[in-house]
Amino acid sequence: MELTTKGRYAVMAMADLASHAASRASSAAALSIEAAAVEVAADSPSAVPLSQIAERQRLSLAYLEQLFVPLRRAGLVESARGRTGGYRLARTAAEISIADIMEAVEEDTQFTRCSGEDPRCSRDTPCITHGLWQQLSDVTSSFFQNVTLADVIAGTPFRAPATVAAKSVPSHRIYFDYNATSPLRSAARAAMIAAMDVAGNPSSVHAEGRAARAIIEAARAKVAALVGAKPSEVVFTSGATEANTWVMAQPWSTIFVAGVEHDSVLAATAASAAEVVPLSTGRDGVIRFDAMISRVASGLPLGRALLTVQTANNETGVLQPIADIAGLAREHGVLLHTDAVQAAGRVPIDFAHLGLDLLSLSAHKLGGPKGIGALIIRDHLDLAPLLRGGGQERRRRAGTENLVAIAGFGAAAEAARLELAAMPRIAALRDRLEALLRETTPDAIIIGAESPRLANTSSIVVPGRSAETLVIKLDLAGIAISAGAACSSGKVGASHVLEAMGLGPELAKGAVRISLGFGTTDNDLAAFAATWKTIVSHPALAA
Ligand code: PMP
Repeated sequence: MELTTKGRYAVMAMADLASHAASRASSAAALSIEAAAVEVAADSPSAVPLSQIAERQRLSLAYLEQLFVPLRRAGLVESARGRTGGYRLARTAAEISIADIMEAVEEDTQFTRCSGEDPRCSRDTPCITHGLWQQLSDVTSSFFQNVTLADVIAGTPFRAPATVAAKSVPSHRIYFDYNATSPLRSAARAAMIAAMDVAGNPSSVHAEGRAARAIIEAARAKVAALVGAKPSEVVFTSGATEANTWVMAQPWSTIFVAGVEHDSVLAATAASAAEVVPLSTGRDGVIRFDAMISRVASGLPLGRALLTVQTANNETGVLQPIADIAGLAREHGVLLHTDAVQAAGRVPIDFAHLGLDLLSLSAHKLGGPKGIGALIIRDHLDLAPLLRGGGQERRRRAGTENLVAIAGFGAAAEAARLELAAMPRIAALRDRLEALLRETTPDAIIIGAESPRLANTSSIVVPGRSAETLVIKLDLAGIAISAGAACSSGKVGASHVLEAMGLGPELAKGAVRISLGFGTTDNDLAAFAATWKTIVSHPALAA
């Protein structure tokens, strides 16, 4: 990649605009957030004519005029007419990253060629150096995301990208447990390292506080974009367990819930004072709603009722038909919550279009850090806070924000959204893996194989083979997978998910889960197939 003049000159012009508008303002350094906002919103004298920028930066005026069209369209600048006509920033300089500018003028910051026509490196069969250029692209893009116009004009020392290229999975290991947690994406690591140097509390009005706030708001927009929600609908939490607990802790009169839900949903539902109506699940993993329909039809008052349905299951990957379910919920006057932890970044999700009310997310399943997540709350839906005592998150969730983790979440959400188009590569790897498993172990049962599933997940039972032993043997051979029924304590019992699907204790105890992700390669697959063959043919594995 080589930056074109478009990107370079756009940044140059914006930096000129930022520094010149700031120096014209009465006392830029002393501006509070509100004052700065007024400065931007009013027809203030800080609009800068393009002719002045052209003169100072020795750029052609005609070229600048062209450049400012997309910058304005992207909401980075506003034009002002009249005697003081020209342009001014539409946000503060601390809220505009270099990545925002690059994106607005469509500057390419990718070093890879795989999205093009080059037959040597395509999305499905990337070339041998693809990983190298992808990492460089990630580092570049996170660098641009983490440098703001304010940094440029203040000459803030830039963070060295070299510190962000560490490898999250040791090269001698094969990591096939993305549904438990995914390795950290390099863009997320870079964003977190940069955020560590931001001293301010995001609630403070001074420059340090505003810099922290800008990181949070940029991350919020990226998380919102991943699931088709508005930034105002995103509330950061400590993870999906908190998000699910928060939803279930509302004063619902009735909760409709199936046994295949995650433990955090089931436990919080059981602890609620609501009438709990269990929904059944077919052997295909798909939830049935007859119990809800007959409960609504029973004529008993329903009150404020909630239907909670996972978008995708963490053990089997089975997808629920959320669009149809949203229609059903609406028809029956029930609010809908979905635990989209496993689906986000793996299938497209459109919160607004689907008409969802509540949606839970967790960063560490999509390449972000652990211990951060979000609850997406439809605008105007009234939810009592779970944590009180502070005005953060627009009074919806008290406590100083986890700035570093939020920065990582935002970067991971953006990378996951951009990589959604690459899911067919993972689906092809998973299909090949299942074909290989069927070849070596023809009696293997693939759970949920007939249902729509996540492209990355396989839940497999090999009759007569102990899941726990398979996991241990593979681990010793350098491959990380998990027992389908492994609970958070690491112990293997019967899977409540498979039991809820009616699969019986033998199958429910015997499943292993293989879950692939953005770092999985053809070589990983070949190595896994060879190891699997050796291990399953070993008689000592008989349960
Ligand atoms: N829901 C689902 C479907 C999950 O897979 C998980 C993580 N195992 C959670 C919720 C909990 O997420 P967190 O780790 O962020 O609390």
